[in-house]
Amino acid sequence: MTTEELIALSEKTLMGTYRRFPVVLTRGEGVRVWDSNGKEYLDFVAGIAVCSLGHSHPAVVAAIKRQAETLMHVSNLYHIEPQIHFASRLVENSFADKVFFCNSGAEANEGAIKLARRYAFEHMAPERRELVTMKDSFHGRTLATIAATGQNKFQVGFGPLPEGFKYVPFNDLAALEDALTERTCGVLLEPIQGEGGVRVPDKDYLRQVRELCDEKGILMILDEVQVGMGRTGYLFAHEHDSVKPDIMTLAKAMGNGFPLGAVLATEKVASAFVPGTHASTFGGNPLAMAAGLAVLDTMLRQGVLENCRRQGACFREGLKKLKGKYSFVKEIRGRGLILGMELTIQGGDIVRSCMEKGLLINCTNENVLRFVPPLILSESDIDRAVDILDRAMGEMP
Ligand code: PMP
Repeated sequence: MTTEELIALSEKTLMGTYRRFPVVLTRGEGVRVWDSNGKEYLDFVAGIAVCSLGHSHPAVVAAIKRQAETLMHVSNLYHIEPQIHFASRLVENSFADKVFFCNSGAEANEGAIKLARRYAFEHMAPERRELVTMKDSFHGRTLATIAATGQNKFQVGFGPLPEGFKYVPFNDLAALEDALTERTCGVLLEPIQGEGGVRVPDKDYLRQVRELCDEKGILMILDEVQVGMGRTGYLFAHEHDSVKPDIMTLAKAMGNGFPLGAVLATEKVASAFVPGTHASTFGGNPLAMAAGLAVLDTMLRQGVLENCRRQGACFREGLKKLKGKYSFVKEIRGRGLILGMELTIQGGDIVRSCMEKGLLINCTNENVLRFVPPLILSESDIDRAVDILDRAMGEMP
């Protein structure tokens, strides 16, 4: 089929949930992907912070292949060896004592919301049903996670939504304190707001939220779906702030492209989930576990986090130079290799022009260019990306 035929068939048969670019991706390797016409792109989107080890990383491919040939079973009625090993490795490398595996970020956040409520039901007062979340947050597209998401545009037309969510401005401790009542069981937030426009809170904010939660005896739940698993140069973004949540959710980069999500929690909180309280058929399946284990081991053993910090600093310098050159750049922000460039103009034309020139980037919140490349990229990849971006920005009126 020609590219045009494929796109026509795609539009005919797939539900119209996505505004896709007229490109059919066929292959990926490292920081690069190729389309059906053989055109090469530097991929600075990476599935929106998913393929952090680069496309088709050999260690991940080999682990999936090996597992597929050994056991491709889906059942939580029995113990699964790679699941045990992966959970142990996550526990060794995080604040958490226990892990629940699922298949996506939204499913992880659903699990976290259920765990928080169930914990409140068992160990706090049963009327503590409410979670305070942040304006401009994003937590997924299921009913409970759009209810948790502090952006009305994701909720329109989908009501009635689950109750019990209250929204406060991100990075505003006083507003959060005001919102907490005897009905609150926890606070759910992203350490850095991804979809909200790569918004990094003030230095002490997360620590102060932690202190507030401790003072009120409520749970701190971190959604690290976008910024966890190495994206900010540490395995988890909250490590920058030296805080420990009670519950954390992960997905995206965890499987480097293989669908995989998780809820991590302390022993005390996790104890609210007992047999029969929560489940997921595909969650923790051997293939996903083999992929996740290979991702984590590669990330920890092969200098990926160090590279992320080093290249993140280098890329930020490149973006700062562009800020000096183009007056429509308002701010550069982010951490490690999640960087945002806020513009005073809409970003769509720059995204399209970059794509024509062989660089994939993404725009969130209409005017924030978001860069979330594979963490294994090199300085020459950054030089090339900054050069393409410079040329695309130079075309703007
Ligand atoms: N939480 C955050 C912070 C996210 O960025 C996303 C996805 N953009 C999700 C949750 C939802 O993840 P998924 O699409 O895997 O359900």
